[in-house]
Amino acid sequence: MEFQHITVAGSGVLGSQIAFQSAFHGFQVSVYDINETAIVKAKERLLKLQDVYADYFKDEENAKAALSRITYSTSLQEAVKDADLLIEAIPELTEIKISFYQELASVAPQKTIFATNSSTLLPSQFAEYTGRPEKFLALHFANEVWKNNTAEVMGHSGTDEQYVDQLVEFAGEIGMVPLRILKEQPGYILNSLLVPLLNAAQGLWAKGVADPETIDKTWMLATGAPKGPFAILDVVGIETAYNIVSTSAKAHPELQPIADRLKKEFIDQGKLGKGSGEGYYKY
Ligand code: NAD
Repeated sequence: MEFQHITVAGSGVLGSQIAFQSAFHGFQVSVYDINETAIVKAKERLLKLQDVYADYFKDEENAKAALSRITYSTSLQEAVKDADLLIEAIPELTEIKISFYQELASVAPQKTIFATNSSTLLPSQFAEYTGRPEKFLALHFANEVWKNNTAEVMGHSGTDEQYVDQLVEFAGEIGMVPLRILKEQPGYILNSLLVPLLNAAQGLWAKGVADPETIDKTWMLATGAPKGPFAILDVVGIETAYNIVSTSAKAHPELQPIADRLKKEFIDQGKLGKGSGEGYYKY
């Protein structure tokens, strides 16, 4: 292992999973978040993840050991002092990330590589604030990292390739399948493919071309895919689908009717997808 110590900044949905996944594979992990309230929540999330991992991998002993390898801090300087790699999983807001990287640049040791888990923002938007653009890149996980174990590794034009190689290796060491992206791309590979598919499917539905079941059936039978776009949307969650379509509708106004129907027929009715018991399908 080239890295020993990992720091995860932001301990929400994804940060807590990345921290646990790294600790489960033997790394020492420091979790950084902004205040004590966030740290209390982080500890609750990580305790729940201990059960999830124990159950999923049928390995209670290692799940417990993983939790014991995680420490917590509200001081960025303290959290990053030994870090070989810092993985940033803080809110998807440009200004928050910029001020985070400005502070990080002033307190991190020279050796620390910085990786962002951002889903929609590009490393080139933050590189200049990191103080080490050559050691800055994206390492993008998918929700429920223990089973949806893709790790998209993507630099910006100023990233030194040796750090891309190191993150590809690290991703493999923590049980992920590393996917090397050769050129900076919004949405990486996965969302570059998935978002247009989901938008197209919802466009067919919003125009009344076919119902969701028929659209899903067509996709599954004709391509051999195990799920159709509407079944995927129910897993992603209708609120996230709404946010994606509303954002895309600014450049593509033809998507606005989809956003309007999602709000009225789903969100306002509490039909938020699989997690809520109903979305396009009933569960
Ligand atoms: P979240 O809202 O669940 O968690 C964000 C965490 O960051 C919270 O614990 C919050 O207290 C903390 N935080 C806020 N400001 C901070 C700061 N200045 N410094 C440090 N921590 C701060 O968000 P999330 O869903 O985990 O998303 C985090 C990142 O991961 C985003 O960039 C998102 O695009 C990306 N991502 C999310 C998913 C997903 O499915 N949720 C999947 C892949 C990538």
